[in-house]
Amino acid sequence: MTRVFHRSLAHDYPVAVSGRGVTIRDSEGRDYIDASGGAAVSCLGHSHPDVLAAMHAQLDSLAYAHTSFFTTAVAEELAQTLVADAPEGISHVYFLSGGSEAIETALKMARQYFVEIGQPQRRHIIGRRQSYHGNTLGALAVGHNAARRVQYAPLLIEAEHVSPAYDYRGRAPGETPEAYGLRLAAELEDTIQRLGPDSVIAFIAETVGGATCGAITAPPGYFRAIREVCDRHGILLILDEVMCGMGRTGTLHACEQEGVSPDLMTIAKGLGGGFAPIGAVLVAGRVFQAFDRGSKLFQHGHTYLGHPLACAAGLAVQTVIKRDNLLANVQAQGAHLARRLGETFGNHHHVGDIRGRGLFQAIEIVADRGSKEPFDPALKLHARIKAEAMARGLMVYPSGGTADGTRGDHVLIAPPFIVDAETIDTIVERLAEAVDASLAQPG
Ligand code: PMP
Repeated sequence: MTRVFHRSLAHDYPVAVSGRGVTIRDSEGRDYIDASGGAAVSCLGHSHPDVLAAMHAQLDSLAYAHTSFFTTAVAEELAQTLVADAPEGISHVYFLSGGSEAIETALKMARQYFVEIGQPQRRHIIGRRQSYHGNTLGALAVGHNAARRVQYAPLLIEAEHVSPAYDYRGRAPGETPEAYGLRLAAELEDTIQRLGPDSVIAFIAETVGGATCGAITAPPGYFRAIREVCDRHGILLILDEVMCGMGRTGTLHACEQEGVSPDLMTIAKGLGGGFAPIGAVLVAGRVFQAFDRGSKLFQHGHTYLGHPLACAAGLAVQTVIKRDNLLANVQAQGAHLARRLGETFGNHHHVGDIRGRGLFQAIEIVADRGSKEPFDPALKLHARIKAEAMARGLMVYPSGGTADGTRGDHVLIAPPFIVDAETIDTIVERLAEAVDASLAQPG
């Protein structure tokens, strides 16, 4: 009997015992293709020898030194690497242990930035509906994943939410993607005007939406228009690339494809590739300088920030990705995945949308393709698909729709960057079987 308090208490979990490349093996000897990298984490697959060697070497010299006493060579080197490859303007890196911590840190850093520059009246954060920024209270407040949020609502700080960039459900009939993007930016402007422009701290968005809607990309020009709105009012732009960043969409940072640089950017999953828990906030020079010229103290910190073993893992993962030119494989296999999903699900009666970028793609399942009506969330179609996929030796990352019909169930596919075309073919075949078997179940 398990003593681990699992997220779902409704079913038993197989026991994972080993991992190699894109495969995880359980205690019964069954193999699973890790077609989601867990939750878009395992970008190098499992047990990469170069990463393990770097981690062993770090452990042999130093596992831990508290950052209120020391910095370490490995943390400095990883920060140097991240700054060298960062979007324009980024000058410093604040390390953490994961995505939610990175979000909390970015929110607090944004608030203190305005205190440092003499604008303490700024207090509002604006996020987007249908977004996910993590499960801690601040992250839940600025995010808007209804299921994860609703029962904690009384505990959450106030946050405003505007419409997400969700082409499949948000773009009006006949509206061009460009016009849709501008309409969304105008909605942000209206919200800022309503709140009072000098009372807003930041706008936060996932560059490519992940856990809530599944690989939703913004219309062309959307982020440039958003950047302009923020700049007009001196508001910070926080991009959350915890899931979509660090190469997953085919460029190191997803925002490179949008032509914008954020003031603060959160990264996590692909940073350490699952070899160790690590996240970070990439910080623009102007934000850093406000602290440096001001109080010289960011009133924040966690026990494990800048953990040397986690930094060694992150540094090794990023070194391998560059050395092996894996972003080229993300682009090539991403194109192959898009093609195979299109061939397999393009005419499927219950697949309303196929979307994404690089090795970050999703299908959205609907009851009716014409009306885009989702299935009743009570059917828990996403959970059925996950179980049917696992029964076929396939890990994918499905999420449920909403009762108000604002989104359907979707399945996220995010395999490791080392995946090959043959494995992608197998992933898509097994996924098609799992989707059809789930739809065929009664009720
Ligand atoms: N932001 C985004 C975009 C995420 O997808 C996630 C995790 N799914 C988080 C933040 C939170 O990260 P963590 O689970 O590591 O706390």
